[in-house]
Amino acid sequence: SVPLGYFGGIGGASRHGILVKGANYLEALTSVKTVIFDKTGTLTQGVFEVNKIETSKHYTEEQLLEIAATAEVHSSHPIAKSIRDKWGKAIDSASITHYEEISGKGIRSEFKGKVVLAGKKDLLLQNSIEVPELKTKGVGTQVYIAVDGEYAGLLIISDRSKEGAKETVAQLNQAGIATVMLTGDQHNVAEAVAEQLGIQEYHGDLLPEDKVTWLENYQQKLKGKGKVVFVGDGINDAPVLIRADIGVAMGGLGSDAAIEAADVVLMEDRPDKLVSAMDIARFTKKVIW
Ligand code: ADP
Ligand code: MG
Repeated sequence: SVPLGYFGGIGGASRHGILVKGANYLEALTSVKTVIFDKTGTLTQGVFEVNKIETSKHYTEEQLLEIAATAEVHSSHPIAKSIRDKWGKAIDSASITHYEEISGKGIRSEFKGKVVLAGKKDLLLQNSIEVPELKTKGVGTQVYIAVDGEYAGLLIISDRSKEGAKETVAQLNQAGIATVMLTGDQHNVAEAVAEQLGIQEYHGDLLPEDKVTWLENYQQKLKGKGKVVFVGDGINDAPVLIRADIGVAMGGLGSDAAIEAADVVLMEDRPDKLVSAMDIARFTKKVIW
């Protein structure tokens, strides 16, 4: 059982915008050995911007952007929002006759007699669509577009890291806590973000279920000696949040599913609040023992 003093710690945490759903989680926060972060919306702002457009010879940039924005009209993914923002004009959502999300990969949408795929390169390859070599250099998430089974172009989209993310990772590393990033985003983007933030290990191109497998790997590595934290924000993150020793959700822009599944909720979406939560937990333990 958990010493009564931890309940006081829960009150203290809540005054710092940290919602702890049980005294046992506060105690667990004093023996963290590994922190695993989701990337998009957790370490990065999740506010994407379209920086570059490449098209096949059949489309102009304007035409490709209209097709992509229309195809993405029903998606709540931050990537979809950035495409609609770049288009910036009205979208005829009534024209959509079929819409489907392909988890961790993209979407399939039908309108005006066209079948449109938007998402990872892999999504097009899976549909036997030939994809040309990328022309643009530099780092960014590539959103590939196909129309009626043919490559039509791609959009290059980027995101910025959150304030305090780099400092949070540095503090954890300094405390001897292993830092890991898991993401569905492509490998080269994962690499660039991990390098920029000082994350020790990262794994990209993951499907939602792969994140669970990695979490379990890290838990097994510790053999019960020390806790594994997972920090995430999306609908896709709920299974990992549930299985983590301590699941931490970003509460501000986080999905309801993530907030529900989490043990600790950071009301302000700031990664540095995780370090505050761990400090409060350690202080509470000192006071009650
Ligand atoms: P993350 O792990 O970064 O939160 P997701 O699992 O939500 O990522 O998505 C993984 C990848 O699938 C994205 O990086 C993107 O390449 C692609 N993707 C997902 N949803 C969409 C969409 N609506 N439109 C285009 N691409 C998408
Ligand atoms: Mg996410």
